[in-house]
Amino acid sequence: MTKAVIQAVDVGSAPIDRYRDLLGAEAWNAFELGMRDFADRMRGRTLWNVNSTPRGGGVAELLAALIPYDRGAGVDERWLVIEGSPEFFAITKKIHTLLHGVAPDGSEITPVERGEYEQAMARNSAALLDQVRPGDVVLLHDPQTAGLVSPLSSRGITVIWRSHVGVDRPNAMVRNAWKFLTPYMNGASAFVFSRRAYVWDDPDGSRIHIIAPCIDPFTTKNRDLDVSETARILAAAGVLRGIDGEATFLRHDGRRGRVTHTAAIGSTPPSDARLVVQVSRWDRLKDPIGVTEAFVRHIAPRTDAWLVLAGPAVDSVDDDPEQPQILAQLQAIRDRVPRGMRERIVVAELPMQDIEENAAIVNALQRRADVVVQKSLAEGFGLTVAEAMWKGRAVVASRVGGIEDQIEDGESGVLIDDPTDLDAFGSAVVDLLHDPQRAAAFGREARLRVIREFLAPRHLMQQAQLVISVI
Ligand code: UDP
Repeated sequence: MTKAVIQAVDVGSAPIDRYRDLLGAEAWNAFELGMRDFADRMRGRTLWNVNSTPRGGGVAELLAALIPYDRGAGVDERWLVIEGSPEFFAITKKIHTLLHGVAPDGSEITPVERGEYEQAMARNSAALLDQVRPGDVVLLHDPQTAGLVSPLSSRGITVIWRSHVGVDRPNAMVRNAWKFLTPYMNGASAFVFSRRAYVWDDPDGSRIHIIAPCIDPFTTKNRDLDVSETARILAAAGVLRGIDGEATFLRHDGRRGRVTHTAAIGSTPPSDARLVVQVSRWDRLKDPIGVTEAFVRHIAPRTDAWLVLAGPAVDSVDDDPEQPQILAQLQAIRDRVPRGMRERIVVAELPMQDIEENAAIVNALQRRADVVVQKSLAEGFGLTVAEAMWKGRAVVASRVGGIEDQIEDGESGVLIDDPTDLDAFGSAVVDLLHDPQRAAAFGREARLRVIREFLAPRHLMQQAQLVISVI
C-alpha cells in the first residue's frame, strides 16, 4: 500500500482583537480570556483539522476563516487535506447525498465501494500518522474522513469527528449511510453536529456537541465594499456590465489583490439591472434548476429582474464530481427558454484560480443583489444565507436544515415551507422586488441577527471549550 500525499493548507494567523469593537466590552473580555486560556491549555499539543478539499463549499470556508484566529491567539493549529481518487470522491459524494435522504443511484453502498473507501482511509491514515503525534487533537470533518477515527485514536491521538450535514427527519437512506459510517468511528472522543436535529442514533449522548457554523466579517468574502468597489469588481469579473477599470480588493493578509480573471458566463446583465442571486456549488440539493423554473414561470413574467446563479468554475472543486452534470442540465434548460427571457438567466462560473478573488466576486454579487435566494432542498447550515444576511440583504430561502435557525420568517427574511413549491418561492421574490422598503427592513434585521448569533467568536469559544474538555 502506498501512502497518500496529504496536502497542508497554508493558513496564516489573524488577530482576534479585530472583534473588540464589534462585540462590545463584556463579550470581548470573555472572548479574550477564553482564547488565552485555550492557548495555555494547548501548549505542547497541535490541533489538526483534516478535510477533503482546500476550497469550495462551506467546510473549507469555515476552516479558512477560523483557524487563523486560533493561531493568532497562540494555538498551534493546522489544516491538512486528504488525498482521494475520483472513485473515492464518487463514493463520498454518494454518502453525502444519502445523508440528505436522497439516492440518485441506489441507496446501498456496494462491497466494492466499501473496499475503495477503506483503502483510501488506510492510505491517508498512514500518511497522517507521519505528522500527528500522540497527545495531539485531530478534528476530522465530514464522511470523507470518518474512516480515519479508529486508526488515529488507537495511537493515543484525541479525535473529534464533525458532521457538517444532516436532515431534520432521517429516512431509510439516511440511516443506511449512518450504518455504513458508524463502525469506523469507534474511539472518537466527541461528535459535533450543526444542529440538535442532526444527531445520529447514538446512545452515548455525552459525546455529542452542537456547534452551529458562523461567518467572519473580516474575510475577503464578507468585508464591507462600497457601491463603486462592488460595481468595479463585478464589471472586471464580467458578471455585470459597467465601467472598465481597475478592480481591487483587500486580501486577508492586508495586501491588495486585483480582479484579473473573468467568469464563464452566458449573458451579462446591464449595470442597473435588478438582480436575484443564488450562490452555490452546482449541486442538485441546491436546486439551481428549481430556481430557474421558478424564475421562468413566476418571477420573469412579473418583474424586470435578472437571475444570477453563481458557483465555482466547473472542475475546480476536486471532491465534487457531480458539478459538470448539474451545470450541463442547467444550460440545457436555459437553452429551451424563449430568447428574450433566456438572456435574463445568467449562469456564472466564477473563476477559482485565486480563491480570494473568487471571494471578492461573491462578496460583490451578494451585496449587489436586490434579493438573495437559497432554494435548497436540503441544507446542513447554509453559509451563503448568513453571508447575505450579514450584508443586509433580504433573503428568500427554503425552510430546511440550518436555514431555519438563521432566518426568522417575516422578520429577518422569508422562509418557504415547501422547498419544491415554485409558486410560493416565486411570489415571495416578486413581492420583495415590488417592495424595496420591506426588503431593506428584512436586511437590517438580518444583519443584527448575524451579529447576535453567527459570528466567529461564538464558534471559536464553543470549539475551544470542547477541545479543552476532551484533552
Ligand atoms: N462559495 C464560494 N464561491 C462560489 C460558490 C460558493 O466562495 O463560487 C462559497 C459560499 O460563499 C459559501 C460556501 O461556498 O461560503 C458554501 O457554503 P454553504 O454552507 O452555503 O454550502 P455547502 O457548499 O457547504 O453545501
